[in-house]
Amino acid sequence: MQRPPGNSIASRDIATYLHSYTNLKKHETDGPLVVNGGRGIYIQDEAGKEYIEGMAGLWCASLGFSEERLVEAAIAALRRLPYYHTFGGKTTEIGVDLAEKLLSTAPVPMSKVFFANSGSEANDSVVKLVWYYNNALERPAKKKILARTKGYHGVTVASASLTGLPNNHRDFDLPIANIMHVDCPHHYRFGEPGESEEAFATRLADNLEKRILAEGPETVAAFIAEPIMGAGGVILPPAGYFEKVQAILKKYDILMIADEVICGFGRTGNMWGCQTFGIKPDILVCAKALSSAYLPISAVMISEPIYQAMVRQSEKIGVFAHGFTYSGHPVSSAVALETLKIYEERDIVGHVQAIAPKMQKWIRSFADRPLVGECRGTGLIGAIELVADKATHAPFDAKLGVGAYLAQRAQEGGLILRAMGDSIGFCPPLIITGDELDEMFRRFDKALGETEKWLA
Ligand code: PLP
Repeated sequence: MQRPPGNSIASRDIATYLHSYTNLKKHETDGPLVVNGGRGIYIQDEAGKEYIEGMAGLWCASLGFSEERLVEAAIAALRRLPYYHTFGGKTTEIGVDLAEKLLSTAPVPMSKVFFANSGSEANDSVVKLVWYYNNALERPAKKKILARTKGYHGVTVASASLTGLPNNHRDFDLPIANIMHVDCPHHYRFGEPGESEEAFATRLADNLEKRILAEGPETVAAFIAEPIMGAGGVILPPAGYFEKVQAILKKYDILMIADEVICGFGRTGNMWGCQTFGIKPDILVCAKALSSAYLPISAVMISEPIYQAMVRQSEKIGVFAHGFTYSGHPVSSAVALETLKIYEERDIVGHVQAIAPKMQKWIRSFADRPLVGECRGTGLIGAIELVADKATHAPFDAKLGVGAYLAQRAQEGGLILRAMGDSIGFCPPLIITGDELDEMFRRFDKALGETEKWLA
């Protein structure tokens, strides 16, 4: 690609910007896609070309890119009180309203909500809460947190440690102590020949128990899981998985943390992924669709026993010394509250349930194509995994960049998708209509056809 001209946004970007999750060297020549506007499920680039945002941005813009009510909610909140904090017992009415609303929707009874600004901050906070909780219970050895290979929980020091993807650890000197990873529950990739999903789930649960016993149950504090693994490639749990895993956690008094940052707020066809997969968490983390991504906000809900232990500890120390300048920001809280009202008024969960079969049928309609290994998903989230050999599931050589090639062709054809290795993710705004779904998959079909030709 030609280097962009001198004073263009692209060249100014190259001169000034350090990009997230980007090949920095390649970016110096390729430059950015400059996004200027949005309308419904579409975004526009600086030349006015429209793209279907097949990933709702980063799995987050659930109400699309032009929801006026969220704009109005932000403006009204800015006028009323543009900023206040939650340190030293301060609060705002809008923050309390949001906390009440979240607790009233929780999949299991929860006691309190802690606010942060991103999924990473929320998960980082969770690590500290788990440690604080066990110190409060005078169990100083019970500190290990088990996460899963291919799980994604963020990029701060502790949350990147929870993340189970090699690039998030490599050369960042992570993971930190007391965070370790167990099996990825991907049946298609890691199931043995002839092994049923149930049998696979039993094997993983057995492995989990063996690991807990090897570490010493008195040293294992918590297990963290996304209901559906998102950034790891949209990996659904095998049948029976969470039931078996939770039985083991219970046996050894280990907390269950549900990372609902992607799955929360209707994505899987229920309000929470926990409801879709029978998870009963002690701690629940959410972000992204909490505000339809219009402003940064995340939340951690904790159970009453955890709260009670924390109260005792903070009384002993004199303070619960944790919190961010922007925890419970009143403008973000107002936008989140309005988002939750819209979900209710428009029955967004009902809409997802009504339209999900169409999306899932589309995804599975590509199963017979030569490059397609697994078609998976539920609700309005899914993925198509491309493979070198359909029979053996052998992946392509990563250096070929097959997934990235397809995503690039899709982008040229007016569709933004995400390649996670060679798994192509679909996670459109929840407001997508049936006709828009058809158009999204027609564009995907064309990009897949171009990829087939390229590899032929
Ligand atoms: N947890 C999950 C499940 C996520 O998908 C993400 C981001 O994609 C995070 C946590 C981190 O959130 P953030 O990027 O807001 O820090």
